[in-house]
Amino acid sequence: MLKGKTAVITGASTGIGKEIALKMAENGANVAIIYIGDEGLAIDVKKQAEGFGVKAEVYECNVANFDISKSVCERIASDFGTVDILVNNAGIIRDGLLLRMSEADFDAVIDVNLKGVFNMTKHMSRSIMRSGSGRIINIASVSGIMGNVGQANYSASKAGVIGLTKTTAKEFAGKKVTCNAIAPGFIVSDMTANLPQAVVDHANNTIPLKRMGTATEVANAAVFLASDMSSYITGEVIKVDGGMCM
Ligand code: NAP
Repeated sequence: MLKGKTAVITGASTGIGKEIALKMAENGANVAIIYIGDEGLAIDVKKQAEGFGVKAEVYECNVANFDISKSVCERIASDFGTVDILVNNAGIIRDGLLLRMSEADFDAVIDVNLKGVFNMTKHMSRSIMRSGSGRIINIASVSGIMGNVGQANYSASKAGVIGLTKTTAKEFAGKKVTCNAIAPGFIVSDMTANLPQAVVDHANNTIPLKRMGTATEVANAAVFLASDMSSYITGEVIKVDGGMCM
């Protein structure tokens, strides 16, 4: 479905980003795997992707840093040529009630989750515009649509991502680049691994499909948005949430 395309995925050494990178590779895309923490994990994803017969490279990059992300995007464009797909997946949480939230925790989440999307989109844009059918996919969250207690920073960052998605869709449409967001609900990953059991039980009871989602279920939506099957969809937010937010 993505044969011959090149996809850049941030936060691709773990969780949802890893699954997106591997699903894209399984569907024929070459993948640039962006990580920040553990190079070994990123190399493991590279090897798994290469198992599908595609080109895969790893790049260390703090997406929150404007200059570092610029130089990494330049390296990727030089290594792969035209980039067709950018998945802005990297994200962090620093949860706490607004009244107790520190300025540092607010700024850190905005810097990675929102400014990181701006940095990567801006620096990758020339290459994506050359694609002729470019795709930008931003991983938002249902928290950015409905808010969430304890997530003032996170929900604001993800609401910002949704606004940025719609503006990017309008500004890049003339270059045949679409930009859409995926808003996952409650997905099994490192990010949700340490939640109190009571929170997990509550979610499992209240989500209409009565379970948490998997990273693969989010990755399936990303592959659809990256493919020609989504050619007339732009500025959209697709929820992958088991019916949690409706
Ligand atoms: P995760 O495993 O913690 O993935 C987050 C990834 O982002 C990690 O690979 C992390 O790298 C990377 N990252 C963090 N800061 C970065 C930075 N400054 N520069 C580059 N990469 C950075 O959690 P996940 O659940 O897969 O999250 C993926 C995305 O889905 C996030 O945007 C998250 O907000 C969103 N989401 C998740 C859920 C959920 O329930 N899990 C729900 C809604 C939305 P390191 O691990 O090396 O730090």
